[in-house]
Amino acid sequence: MRSWRAVGANPAFVARGEGPYVFDADGRRYVDFLGSWGPLILGHAHPAVVRAIAEQAARGTSFGAPTGLEVELARLLVDALPAVEQVRLVSSGTEATMSALRLARAATGRSRILKFVGCYHGHVDALLVRAGSGALTLGVPDSPGVPGSIADLTALAPYNDPAATRDVITRYAAELAAVVVEPVAGNMGVVSPKPGFLEMLRQETERVGALLVFDEVITGFRLGWTGAQGRYGIRPDLTCLGKIVGGGMPLAAFGGRRDLMSMVAPAGPVYQAGTLSGNPVSVAAGLAALRELKANPSAYERLEILGAKAETELRGALAASGTKGTVNRVGSMLTLFFGVERVTGYDEATAADTERFARYFRGMLDEGIYLPPSQFESMFVSLAHGEDHLAELGAAARRVLARL
Ligand code: PMP
Repeated sequence: MRSWRAVGANPAFVARGEGPYVFDADGRRYVDFLGSWGPLILGHAHPAVVRAIAEQAARGTSFGAPTGLEVELARLLVDALPAVEQVRLVSSGTEATMSALRLARAATGRSRILKFVGCYHGHVDALLVRAGSGALTLGVPDSPGVPGSIADLTALAPYNDPAATRDVITRYAAELAAVVVEPVAGNMGVVSPKPGFLEMLRQETERVGALLVFDEVITGFRLGWTGAQGRYGIRPDLTCLGKIVGGGMPLAAFGGRRDLMSMVAPAGPVYQAGTLSGNPVSVAAGLAALRELKANPSAYERLEILGAKAETELRGALAASGTKGTVNRVGSMLTLFFGVERVTGYDEATAADTERFARYFRGMLDEGIYLPPSQFESMFVSLAHGEDHLAELGAAARRVLARL
């Protein structure tokens, strides 16, 4: 993604970030809507986060031993997220989903998992699988190096298609350890769950004795203090977190039901470890970021307002130029899709005009707007953005779309 191959450009090398801006190595300033792919809900170099990092770094950067900070962060996560009773800190979203899967397999004594086509959960072998040609429910590895025998254990279903999903769950019922889902899809561009879809997953997993794993690596603390699980009122068995919880430093987590989490070593037999897990500098950054969010009672209201303004601006630009496209948005996550009128799932998302997106991306960059370099990603609005930045986004989009 960083190579910008999807948009036919050479990547800007970033020199620094400040609030809503990034500056490239040539000193050009951009309004940043990538936000490091999601973590930077407070913008770049937020003073409270920078201070926490500096203070902790001066006290030592890694101990390989427990710190009180970890307990504080764990407590905060457990207090915030309805379905998280106990939590383990790791260093990346990939580790979080990998560990959650191992735990789900251990807890159920089953091997097969179900994921949704177009959902991304990091580069875990078992999750690096999507639809193979014509065989939607047969796992085909996305990458060389993923053994077919591992991909075979990954069943696939179409996101937002309850009937097809129910069929796959029923087919594998007694073999299914877990259903893993991004409650709001962010990795095929933003796609919100249809009403009832997540509820169906909750019911169906219970029916067949599989665990429901919410990958809230993007949505956790992005869509509200209680995550997507709070927003949609669903209680998954396990939750994966990342991005925002690390305040822009490498940190992630998985957690959930106490009876499950108590199976993780050393309390239980399910092995999990990491030299830099719960790294004190990362934990300090995450705590500082989350405390900033918590101390601002209107943070999520504000993000909703800013997100809505961004949507209005982009829709206005589409309309003004007569460009066929649509904008999907949930809170402060949004994607402008070209060439399609609605996107509710993978097939509609992948029907989007990626060539036009690439030209739009490059045009926006020339206008000083830094977007995610792919049609199939979410842009992120942060609390560092103001209405003026969104007006700038809209004005730039109008100019760019007018000449596409
Ligand atoms: N899950 C989701 C939903 C993600 O979007 C990502 C990364 N974009 C991951 C997991 C993997 O996280 P990481 O890149 O930290 O390994």
